[in-house]
Amino acid sequence: MTGSEFDLAFFKEQGFKRTQCPKCKRYFWSLGDWATCGEPPCEEYTFIGHSPMNQRLTLHEMREAYLSFFEENGHGRVKRYPIVARWRDDVFFTQASIYDFQPWVLNGVIEPPFNPLTISQTCVRFNDIDNVGKTGRHFTFFEMCAHHAFNKEGRFIYFKDRTVELCHRFFTERLGTNPGKMRYVEEWWEGGGNAGPCVEVILDGVEVATLVFMMYRDTPEGRKPMEMTVVDTGYGLERMTWVSQGVSSAYEAVFGPVVEWLKGLACVRPDPLVLTEYSKVAGATNMRTAADVRRIRETTAERIGIGYEELMRTVAPLEDIYVICDHSRALMLMLNDGVVPSNVREGYFARMLVRRALRSIRSLDLDIRLAEVVSRQIDHFQDIFPELRENREDILGLVQVEEDRYFETLGRGKQLVDRLVKDLREGEKLPVERLIELYDSHGLNPEIAKEFAPDRIDVPDNFYIQVAARHERPEAATDASGDRPERMPETRMLYYEDPELVEFEGTVIAEVDGGVVLDQTAFYPEGGGQEWDLGTLDGKKVCRVIKIKTAIVHFVEGENPKIGAKVRGTIDLERRQQLMRHHTAAHLINGVARTLFGNHVWQAGAHKAVDQARLDITHFENLSTEQRDLLEREVNRVVLQDRPVHI
Ligand SMILES: [Zn+2]
Ligand SMILES: [Zn+2]
Repeated sequence: MTGSEFDLAFFKEQGFKRTQCPKCKRYFWSLGDWATCGEPPCEEYTFIGHSPMNQRLTLHEMREAYLSFFEENGHGRVKRYPIVARWRDDVFFTQASIYDFQPWVLNGVIEPPFNPLTISQTCVRFNDIDNVGKTGRHFTFFEMCAHHAFNKEGRFIYFKDRTVELCHRFFTERLGTNPGKMRYVEEWWEGGGNAGPCVEVILDGVEVATLVFMMYRDTPEGRKPMEMTVVDTGYGLERMTWVSQGVSSAYEAVFGPVVEWLKGLACVRPDPLVLTEYSKVAGATNMRTAADVRRIRETTAERIGIGYEELMRTVAPLEDIYVICDHSRALMLMLNDGVVPSNVREGYFARMLVRRALRSIRSLDLDIRLAEVVSRQIDHFQDIFPELRENREDILGLVQVEEDRYFETLGRGKQLVDRLVKDLREGEKLPVERLIELYDSHGLNPEIAKEFAPDRIDVPDNFYIQVAARHERPEAATDASGDRPERMPETRMLYYEDPELVEFEGTVIAEVDGGVVLDQTAFYPEGGGQEWDLGTLDGKKVCRVIKIKTAIVHFVEGENPKIGAKVRGTIDLERRQQLMRHHTAAHLINGVARTLFGNHVWQAGAHKAVDQARLDITHFENLSTEQRDLLEREVNRVVLQDRPVHI
């Protein structure tokens, strides 16, 4: 990285000064006189109690302020994408707004809905789940506000200068922040084979936004400029709301009426001084391990001059309330977007949220159902996301089913724990492996297991991070074999450009795992549950076609054509058409099933072969014979309507 990446005309014209932070050694730009970059741990939060903005906005007001500002500045407003990233096979959940456009927009297959565009994307992350409720700023569910621009040859939208300018104007003009307060820290970003300079936007000790300029890609020959450069920004909606309100924690700023209701029920009225100090200490601490949480608490207690136990009496019930708020928000969106709680894949995380929330309700000794909390979250969000109103009954039904299951588990829990503990030696503790087993196979939270055998069970502080890590990615994404090049060659996918293309020419550009990679191909690889195309390459039979990252790999009978050779490909059209029909039929069944049985229904697995196709759907019970017949009749009715198909 060189400083020249950040020599922006905007900085120069406005009179920004470039300074090196003496603590972290990074360079930053500002109109004010600042000794450091301002980001913790170089400085602490300074906005609590005195917001740098001239207005106090709620979560919903902040979202609207953001989207309308960028709309007024030439951006198309885009609705949020689902929180379940169904268009990707490498992740379960949408974790940033750029996920919406990977890989299909970034690889040029489809056009973005607007260019430039603005969005507030609903996201979930589970890698910090044990910190939620404790640090004042970690969430599982959050919204990432963003403006994106995609610059292609012949169509330049904007890049660094305009991005920083828009960001600066949003905070200063729209939110009334003193321009001298804004600090822009030079950074470098890398991810998913792309790289570029990036700017961290620091305001009063908080990183309120990150502006990434994707402009390089890593190739086997080294780093090269990208054909399409991308503005990838991320503004934390919760953080901006928090800063605008200047309250003691992000939770107090964003949980709105639901947190007030829960505090009333639990009779919790915390001392704001305690919470403020807690947030400041937490903000300045890099949260890596559970020991960090303990250290935050000790430091806070020391700073206020009270004992650790006394601090925990204030903080513990509040942490449970925040957990309930956070998890019920995440559940609402996940269930709305089609996740069904289960023991596998996406469903695993929904179940985890239900159980953790119920555990907190139990430890507060509240006489409420989780569905009631989720229902209040829907009240709070349904004007913003109208689909929640539509799916309300379905969402609450799923929560109730899951809640009932949980109470059954509790009934069996004591017996299960007694049996395990009986086999322990004198003074021995139950191994973590057993706790994970109790949780994964029997649905029993470790905290509750501990209630049944307090002396025999210690719960690790990062228990849920440990179990979440085991389920984080779809299995297929982790089985890449070791000897492949990190950066795969790229194949142009002709079958997306012309699904009827039967003959084509291509050049061999690589050999991977014994197969042949072409610069372009009409062979559809195994994927999306559809079997691969058959046919020939230069007269040799193609036996199998797979996709590895960006490369389409063909396995042929006999010797492979040499690298650099031009080859002629022919597709077995009859087979392809049969596969396409089955593929379309599977989508049709999925769509009709959603209409008939609820919006949570989605495809859990599918296989489309020539002679038959299969579709697995997510639902909380087996379909009855009547339901199956109904589904069949409805699907056939739609087939007979002979509607056009769009891909
Ligand atoms: Zn610094
Ligand atoms: Zn499909």
